[in-house]
Amino acid sequence: MTGIGYDIHRFTEGRPLVLGGVEIPHDRGLDGHSDADVLSHAIADAVLGALGLPDIGHYFPPGDPACAGIRSLDILAKCRQLAADAGMTLVNVDSTLIAEAPKILPHRDAMRTNIGDALGIPPARVGIKATTNEMLGAIGRREGIAAMAVAQVGRA
Ligand code: MG
Repeated sequence: MTGIGYDIHRFTEGRPLVLGGVEIPHDRGLDGHSDADVLSHAIADAVLGALGLPDIGHYFPPGDPACAGIRSLDILAKCRQLAADAGMTLVNVDSTLIAEAPKILPHRDAMRTNIGDALGIPPARVGIKATTNEMLGAIGRREGIAAMAVAQVGRA
């Protein structure tokens, strides 16, 4: 079974930029209730979708104080647990980050390792790609970062 996920977060001053569990040097971070790891959120929704489950907001409500500042890698670990509970296992995930900056490639391997560790799959099964938005729209104006993802699960 396959699932799809999408997320977007706006840039804000005074927060670290966390993508795939990696803190990336940048002049701004992403705004959000958790660590605002837009990549992990898109992947989490893809996994939940593949499992036929409700979306990330169901398990981690944005207004829930218990979720404030939560590491998004922990959200992925929760998705792994939900898959196991359903008798399923992750096959692979693939994703694309859409951002004008910063450069993603230098951090790609660390992100793949983090996400793979959280989901219980080798980094080789974690696809992370990046593209700009050709300076079009809000992403093009460097107002935020978007991510899309797909996930495949199979019977454990
Ligand atoms: Mg999000």
